[in-house]
Amino acid sequence: MNKTVSKQPKKVKHIPLRTCVACRETKSKRELLRVVRTPDSHVVLDATSKKAGRGAYLCARLSCWEIALKKHRLEQEFEVALSTEDRAELEAFIATLPKDEPPLSVTGEPKAELSAKGRKPK
Ligand SMILES: [Zn+2]
Repeated sequence: MNKTVSKQPKKVKHIPLRTCVACRETKSKRELLRVVRTPDSHVVLDATSKKAGRGAYLCARLSCWEIALKKHRLEQEFEVALSTEDRAELEAFIATLPKDEPPLSVTGEPKAELSAKGRKPK
């Protein structure tokens, strides 16, 4: 048997990781969408990742954005109230996101979140 194990470089490329403010998963920056609190206290999507201001990251999936808006995660993160306009803009944007998870239940509030926390197998 020939061993065809190629030498794997030990050097790991440095990938900047960020945490989604909704699901708290850590992912590489490019998998996440950046939201910025601008110096004049607006909360806007930063598609280019170049805007100045304090940033927060969210997965590019609808469920995380819904959590972020419904549970005021962005407001908590930025310590600023989301204006109606800013919220409307974000909502317009998230309407374009793919739904990656079918809604388990559309009634009532999702309340199992805390008890369901724990280690998820990947
Ligand atoms: Zn997320």
